[in-house]
Amino acid sequence: MHIGIDLDNTVLDATSAHLHYYNRVSGLSLTPGDVTDFYIYRLYGWDDAKRDAVYREYGHEIHWNSPPLPMASSIVRELSARHRISIITARPTLFRDVTVKWLEAHNIHYHSIAFTEDKLGQCIDSKVDVLIDDAPHYAEQFALVNRPVILYEQPYNVHVTNDRVYRASNWPQVKQHVDHLESIQ
Ligand SMILES: [Mg+2]
Repeated sequence: MHIGIDLDNTVLDATSAHLHYYNRVSGLSLTPGDVTDFYIYRLYGWDDAKRDAVYREYGHEIHWNSPPLPMASSIVRELSARHRISIITARPTLFRDVTVKWLEAHNIHYHSIAFTEDKLGQCIDSKVDVLIDDAPHYAEQFALVNRPVILYEQPYNVHVTNDRVYRASNWPQVKQHVDHLESIQ
């Protein structure tokens, strides 16, 4: 199969790194338990311009200091021996270098990488069979066109339910869903 894999809050814990730097900038002290919105900056009352300015300044450090989620690296490596792996991230290309270096540093194997907010278009064009992602809007968009998504469970996506959405709360569960999808292909 051709598997598309998101990075932030799917392969790595982006929430804690964002909170660390956003707390530093704002003087607030939000914790992961406060994160009920996919768009963390909204919890700080910031508008898009403020978020963009903070992200431009700290994005490199945020991305470099995000820890991998448990077993993500070993399971992606295992999957890459059997499937085609495309990393598909909505990060801007400004952070391409730190992203590629982080993947290398954490020994995550993949065949290609795309930086795009149009994940559906990317998956259709490159014939991706299943996307693994945490974002509620991608899961809903894919479900509408009957494409499967393995949804990495986060507090802000618990409301998403659909026959084509396979929920996983850890990487061994992601692997089980991939094996199942492969068996019914
Ligand atoms: Mg994500």
